[in-house]
Amino acid sequence: LKSPYSGGHLEVIVGPMFSGKSEELIRRVTRALIARQRVQVFKPAVDDRYHESAVASHTGRTVGALAVGDVADIRAHLSGEGPLLQASAEMPDVIGIDEIQFFGSELVPLALELADAGVRVILAGLDLDFRAEPFGCMPDLLARAESVEKLTAICTQCGAPATRSQRLISGRPARFDDPVVLVGAQESYEARCRLHHVVIH
Ligand code: ADP
Repeated sequence: LKSPYSGGHLEVIVGPMFSGKSEELIRRVTRALIARQRVQVFKPAVDDRYHESAVASHTGRTVGALAVGDVADIRAHLSGEGPLLQASAEMPDVIGIDEIQFFGSELVPLALELADAGVRVILAGLDLDFRAEPFGCMPDLLARAESVEKLTAICTQCGAPATRSQRLISGRPARFDDPVVLVGAQESYEARCRLHHVVIH
């Protein structure tokens, strides 16, 4: 897929867990590297220190990435100290960011500034949370993007295309108002279709 946009622009890759978002991000980034473009990939760090890391898909493919604590870390890494990001010799041609649901709403102005400065920005993350509610600033990013790819996984219950992430707490569907972190519980996620996605109210 050759990007149809010549200048800076925003591409967003969304879908539920296991839909291949990381795979698709890795595919696009790998092609940019083959084209000898300057590429920088970021992902959220589990701890909040900068470190060299990699984006890995569930199939095990990887691409080098910088793990960052927050959007300010991304900004600091990219900019000389100025408040606005400028097109410059050091600015990458392509910036990829995985798991964007873990970043705050400051990601929106950053993505727009980068695209305005001529960068091809590729963002990947969950469009919906475990309740099937829009995730954070995703509606804003989807509306502003030049290109949106919605991927599906396979429903673990029926094999249909899965658009949602089922949260299970000790094997049972999670409640709508369960805290995001439940201490001491066994938590897992499955890809599910609309019919088989369950949220207890
Ligand atoms: P994401 O970034 O969207 O979570 P990944 O790119 O990490 O997805 O992984 C996608 C891969 O996960 C698929 O290519 C497939 O090998 C594997 N996989 C495991 N469970 C499922 C499922 N229920 N539906 C689709 N793919 C699955």
